[in-house]
Amino acid sequence: MKTVSQKIWYSLIIFILLSCTGCIETEPTPSLTDVDSRLTAWYNIPSILPLWTDENYHDYYATMSALYDYQTRYDHLIDLFSIGTSVSGKTIWCIKLTNEASSQTKTSCLIDGCIHGSEWESGEACLYLAEYLLINFAQNTTISMLLNTTNVYILPIVNPDGRQKDYRYNDNGIDLNRNFNVHFGRLRGHSIPLGKLFGRIQIPRIDIPIFGFLTNSGRRPFSEPESRALRDIMKDLSSQRFSFYINCHTATHQILYPWSTFKPIFTISSQQNAVFTAVTSWITKNSEYDSTKLGYKASGTAMDWCFMKYEVPCFTFEILSEEYEPRSGGGRHDNLVHWMKTTLPVFMFLLMNSESLHKWEIPLNKPLVPKGVPPVPLY
Ligand SMILES: [Zn+2]
Repeated sequence: MKTVSQKIWYSLIIFILLSCTGCIETEPTPSLTDVDSRLTAWYNIPSILPLWTDENYHDYYATMSALYDYQTRYDHLIDLFSIGTSVSGKTIWCIKLTNEASSQTKTSCLIDGCIHGSEWESGEACLYLAEYLLINFAQNTTISMLLNTTNVYILPIVNPDGRQKDYRYNDNGIDLNRNFNVHFGRLRGHSIPLGKLFGRIQIPRIDIPIFGFLTNSGRRPFSEPESRALRDIMKDLSSQRFSFYINCHTATHQILYPWSTFKPIFTISSQQNAVFTAVTSWITKNSEYDSTKLGYKASGTAMDWCFMKYEVPCFTFEILSEEYEPRSGGGRHDNLVHWMKTTLPVFMFLLMNSESLHKWEIPLNKPLVPKGVPPVPLY
């Protein structure tokens, strides 16, 4: 019979022997130089999902209150600030998520939603992502490393008046995603530079038999305060190792990249094309979104303008499926949690490859996502 002190000695000797022969694994300590390529390897505790319910939609005021709440609970990870005001004077809120205590070199990316106010899920996805990153920081190593090395700028509601009124356009009746200065106001891009008639009358959309429809792009580029605010934050990020931009929408179930105009502004280089192809191929294989459908042609979009101006990878992310597309008779809002889960692989893939995307290198990091993500498709 061994005494207690003998047992302790035996355990200590066995532990030392095992440690020397490499049988006991210890979690690797991150170095400052190879953060990006090793993100996957440092995944430890499975990440958890926000506790949302299907009724948990956030209008403008509920979004604002969620952002305040995040700031109160995670003030070391979040900076909440205004980037401007809407036509009716509502603040356009933005958050910057990052580990403020980390002095590592960081990239900066921008994700926005509700540039079209009736496309609720595009704003919800921004909030869901923010909450997912915040609740997993310091629990899940991948997400900790991500916030140590990335400034994640999230702008949940670009069009506060439209979101509050469940209206695609802003309070001047202008389609903000046609108000950017890239092939602005072209009829072939389904937009028309009308502005407000006599400075008073809104004409958000004109339907023309056979041709289709035209949306009002505003009388001149950046005529609207909301698009100017978005333009200005893109400019700020251009000096902060800007890595990518995602402009979220609903509901055509795809991820698109430039150009959405009928006539390219410049030729996409072979390297840029390889990166766009790598991103969309990964997304097609690992989420229910794809990029194989014919894209629509649109003039004056935020995605095209950002790519033209700053040449960072830019995407239009159409959440939901065509079953929900208003023009096809859908346009409803349900299964919120399901749709939020579908977005996580897309966001996480881009976030985990932020450094590569900044350098236009092929993204190789693969995100690990929680059980049940992506969910089984509804259709
Ligand atoms: Zn849209």
